[in-house]
Amino acid sequence: MSWEDPVNAYRITKASALQILDSRGNPTLSVTVELGDGTTATAGVPSGASTGAREAVELRDGDAARYGGKGVLNAAATVNSEIAELLLSRTWPGLEDIDAALIELDGTPNKSRLGANAVVGVSIACARALAAADRTPLWRWLSDPETELCLPVPHFNVINGGAHAANPLDFQEFMIAPLGAPSIAEAVRAGAEVYTALRRELVALRESTGLGDEGGFAPGVTEPEEALRLLVAAIEAAGYTPGRDGVSIALDPAANGFFQSDGRYRIAGEQLTSSELISRYAAMIERFPIHSIEDGLAEDDEAGWIAMTAQLGERIQIVGDDIFVTDPDAIARGAERGIANAALIKVNQIGTVTQTRQALAAARTAGYGAMISHRSGETCDDFIADLAVGSGAGQLKSGAPARGERVAKYNRLMAIADANPGLPYGAAKF
Ligand code: PGA
Ligand code: ZN
Repeated sequence: MSWEDPVNAYRITKASALQILDSRGNPTLSVTVELGDGTTATAGVPSGASTGAREAVELRDGDAARYGGKGVLNAAATVNSEIAELLLSRTWPGLEDIDAALIELDGTPNKSRLGANAVVGVSIACARALAAADRTPLWRWLSDPETELCLPVPHFNVINGGAHAANPLDFQEFMIAPLGAPSIAEAVRAGAEVYTALRRELVALRESTGLGDEGGFAPGVTEPEEALRLLVAAIEAAGYTPGRDGVSIALDPAANGFFQSDGRYRIAGEQLTSSELISRYAAMIERFPIHSIEDGLAEDDEAGWIAMTAQLGERIQIVGDDIFVTDPDAIARGAERGIANAALIKVNQIGTVTQTRQALAAARTAGYGAMISHRSGETCDDFIADLAVGSGAGQLKSGAPARGERVAKYNRLMAIADANPGLPYGAAKF
């Protein structure tokens, strides 16, 4: 509801999009909307590199002469014409109505006509504008009466591999999560101190300190266990206890990336069956302080997912990313079949803020955990920090504690905590 309008409806007076660059140097959209009271809000659109097959579809120009075909001028033009026309055509009771109208205007199941990049930019910009018009902090405006607000545990991706780096490491993400920290500020401090300790360690080993797409280091190590050893050493060198009382480890192997057409997984040159890979994870959990594994198996290996959840789901969090693609129905279906026990939540994977909140609700209904996530291609937009607090998800992954587009989210969390000392830190959920 808006104070500006006696009939309790928001009036949008302008909606426009501009092609900008993301953190990888690829074009993306910046979307701005203006309300009748003069409120303006802007959103930057993220973009993934290791995408699930069933994700909402981002629209690229395909003109090889410009940005290798990755331009988004057509998507920008769609916002400036067709979408702006819709938004200005009537007043809106709330964001749900705007998102529903965008879905209807698109008319496809995966937003492939208007482009999920155009739609998600508009949805996020509208959420931000409506919250501002309501004079309510975005995180509170996004909050759900059924969940307890909290600052999420940051999951810092400090070693990159897979599709995010040019090194030989097949697993995509090695994250550290300060579960034992007393506050978000101390959690961020721990993340940054372990990150710099890891850099010192790599220098001492004469390893590369070059970075992957999410700001983590991309050393020339091959075996995932080698990367895990480096992490434990860095946690200790920084003066923290490895494990749930201190700094714990989370993995996102992003197994689609090393799943082969013969149904096997290729890791460091070795061929593993689904059950051999699950055993390898079981051994890793024994040896290293790991509390969470995301996309340990490929999106099409459903039998493997069910087996992995049955074998390891009591001991660790098993997060579905590519297999759920932030789709409320896919999460509900997966839960019925015993696939995973948590869902990764990416706004651009489903395409609107409203559907993202429905995905969070589906995870909650199933008794599943939820982790809010950035994409490997990012802007300095910090919407997901507010979403993480408002949803009470308790977990956020936004890359390394370094590089502007990654720290924008962590810095926003610290600002929210500073202004609201009563908000608890979400580690209690583990
Ligand atoms: P993406 O990867 O943003 O490159 O798709 C992130 C992830 O797999 O979690
Ligand atoms: Zn993932």
